[in-house]
Amino acid sequence: MKIRQKTLIVIFVVVLVTGAVTTIVGRTIAMNIVEDEISDHLVTTAQSRAQTVRLALESQQQGIEILAREAEAYMATMQPGGLGFLVKDRLVVSVLLNGIASSMEQVRDALCLDQNGIVVAATSERFLGFDASDWEVFSELSKGNRNTFVGDIQDSPLGEFVNGEAASEFLLATAAPFRTAGDLEGVVVFLGGEKELSEITTDVTGLGKTGEVYLVNSDGFMLTESRFREDAIMQVKTDTAGGSGDSEGAGQELISTTSYMGSKVLRICEPLPETGWTVVVEMGSSEAFAPVSTLTRVMLWSLLGVLLLGVVAAIGISKALTRPIVRLHRGAEEVMRGNWDCSLSTSAKDEIGELSRAFGKMTANLKRSHEELRHYSESLETKVEERTRALATANEELNREIIERKQAEKALQEAHDELEMRVLERTEQLAETNAILEEEIMERKRAEEEALQRNRELAALNALAQTINQSVDLDEILRNALDKTLEILNVQDGSIHLMDKEGDTLSARIVRGVPSGEAKGVSTIRVGEGIGGVVAQKGEPTFVESLSDVLRSLHEDAAQIILQHDLKSAMFVPLKARGVVLGMMSAVTRGDRVFTTEERELVITIGHQIGTAIQNTQLVEEASRAEALEELDRLRSALLASVSHELRTPLTSIKGLASTLTQPDIEWDRETQREFLMIIDRESNILARIVSDLMEMSQIEAGVMRMEKAPITISAIVSQLRDQLKHLVVKHQFEADIPPGLPQIYVDEMRIGEVITNLVANAAAYSEPGTRITLQAREVDGDIVVSVIDEGIGIPAEHRGKIFDRFYRLESGVARRRGGTGLGLSISKRIVEEHGGRIWVESKVGRGSKFSFSIPVVKLAKASQKVASVPEA
Ligand code: ADP
Repeated sequence: MKIRQKTLIVIFVVVLVTGAVTTIVGRTIAMNIVEDEISDHLVTTAQSRAQTVRLALESQQQGIEILAREAEAYMATMQPGGLGFLVKDRLVVSVLLNGIASSMEQVRDALCLDQNGIVVAATSERFLGFDASDWEVFSELSKGNRNTFVGDIQDSPLGEFVNGEAASEFLLATAAPFRTAGDLEGVVVFLGGEKELSEITTDVTGLGKTGEVYLVNSDGFMLTESRFREDAIMQVKTDTAGGSGDSEGAGQELISTTSYMGSKVLRICEPLPETGWTVVVEMGSSEAFAPVSTLTRVMLWSLLGVLLLGVVAAIGISKALTRPIVRLHRGAEEVMRGNWDCSLSTSAKDEIGELSRAFGKMTANLKRSHEELRHYSESLETKVEERTRALATANEELNREIIERKQAEKALQEAHDELEMRVLERTEQLAETNAILEEEIMERKRAEEEALQRNRELAALNALAQTINQSVDLDEILRNALDKTLEILNVQDGSIHLMDKEGDTLSARIVRGVPSGEAKGVSTIRVGEGIGGVVAQKGEPTFVESLSDVLRSLHEDAAQIILQHDLKSAMFVPLKARGVVLGMMSAVTRGDRVFTTEERELVITIGHQIGTAIQNTQLVEEASRAEALEELDRLRSALLASVSHELRTPLTSIKGLASTLTQPDIEWDRETQREFLMIIDRESNILARIVSDLMEMSQIEAGVMRMEKAPITISAIVSQLRDQLKHLVVKHQFEADIPPGLPQIYVDEMRIGEVITNLVANAAAYSEPGTRITLQAREVDGDIVVSVIDEGIGIPAEHRGKIFDRFYRLESGVARRRGGTGLGLSISKRIVEEHGGRIWVESKVGRGSKFSFSIPVVKLAKASQKVASVPEA
């Protein structure tokens, strides 16, 4: 939008808004002023008319009252009962008519009602005899509720009678009662006066061409003549609700409304409470507000004038302002078109002059820049052309390449399609292979499962075999075997019965699941009776799927157990070895569980194992019994041989010497006697030793050897034995190698002394006189080790293990050179072992032997405790 237009619009809007606001405000103020004035004027008019109406009615009322008083005065002069009714009547009428004629021309008719409401006299004949007792005005006047009446009666029975068949007309009546001595004599009624009222109200002075005054009754019907309609009386209805009120002056409020003629009017209503009528004063709105309309028109015309002036001024101003700018604009367009030489210079000194001068300078600069740009653009164009040529060449090459690519792509696509086809074929083949493979895998799985089942069974059997092999005690084997079997089968009921020696009864050895009290019933089974008995007899396993189906064929107690424990299926397996039935095993399920085929086979295999195990234990029992007997036999013969030989030798020499000495024919000298007696003494010592060895051995065997242990050092024991040892090694070089300070040992001093004496005696016996015998003691790994080393004959390797056995002696002749029982080393071994130690030998034949035994060193705390509890014996 151009500056000129903008300026125009702004001025136009400003003038328009200001003018409109001024006009509206002015009009509103003028309206208010005019309205107030009209209101005052109409109120004044209404009040004055109302007042006039009131005066007219009052004068009518006064007239009738005078008449009534006259009638009363006249009646008072009459003699009571002197004159007849008719005379009285005539007199009254004459009085009435005279009164009316003389004072009130507006009265059209006059009536006289008697005390019963009957017209007894009237100015018109037609009223005579009319019964007006229903007229409520009459009853009110007769009762004395009111003294006079003035008002319209067209709606009353009297009014209807007066109007007759014709349309209802406004009838004004004035009435007053007359009495004698307080009693009602009659009522006088005037009819007429409507015209006077019409004249008063229809005076439109000061109300212009549209103004009007009229009277309406309480129902709003017009009572007086209209200025604009002929037949308005009792026909036109006006709503006075807005203006009517009960009290005078209450309705003086200007209302803008529509008149009965349908035009806009301003209205004031003035009520007349005594009659229930309302004086209505109206004036046409257009006439009332005519001055305001004129004022508004003038203001609007002025506004238009101002607007026009404003537009002209705006055009002038904007032209003066924009002319140099337009010039600048044209110059700029010239420059844009390329006319760099166009001059815009101006001598004006205002801002626009400065702007045009700056514009001139800018144009010069632009011209320079434009020249540079043109040069640059020319060079650019040359470059672009070159580039375009190069691009065209490249494009051609590219197109060629694209064509080649497309061909290659096509070839590729063909290859791809072929490949896809091959892949599809291959996939189908693979699917087939896959199916075959899957089948194979399934088979493998089945085989694997079977193998696994087999493995499980084998593992179970292995576990069972281990259980069985862990013991040689038959009861333990059977217990473990049954428990393991039930565990593998995951059931709780089962039993093992063994065949007795006679082979006709099975006796329960182990019963599981059923309480022992109940199990007594099946503790013995006769072979051939019941399922178990038949199994034992035939040696064939039997499977019963449902025990409840075979209850009748079972023993009573067995049936009872089955029912009580809800037993279901059972396996009965014979326990056989080498075809002989040794017993019977049973396993039973509860509830719904039934043994599977695999489980049944497993139980049969287990039965074989248990059978073999029973036989093995029987064999072992027999074997060990035989071995024990053999050992006993060997011991007995060893003892016999040893005892008989060893006892015989000393006994023979004792017997021989004693016989020699006691020969009666020979006298032995004292010396010889003494020598013989000493030999007898030595030999009996040997006998005594043999007997004591045998005694000690039997004590050991019987387990009654007593140990009296106490803490003591080995050197203390040896020093106690000093004399005894000296005696034993009298022919040898004896040496005791016992370092001082060795820890104590907790031992029976006597018994350990006996072991040492035994070993030293043996060393002396089995080595040449003069050779060395060493008694050595050392502490080795918490033990005291005592060794007796000789340089004697030694012991061959094959005998070394046996020399600690009872009655064992080497058979060589040299060995026999010392009397002995073969018990010494075995007794020593038992003593050492009783002390928690051990005994052993190292030897080389012909070089010597080293016998050693070890005793654990006493732990201090333990030692002191023991010391405390074992008193010195
Ligand atoms: P004995 O009463 O016969 O000596 P022992 O039990 O003491 O019974 O010895 C058993 C056998 O051990 C002896 O008969 C002997 O043959 C052999 N023996 C024991 N000590 C030695 C030793 N120091 N040197 C060689 N042989 C020995």
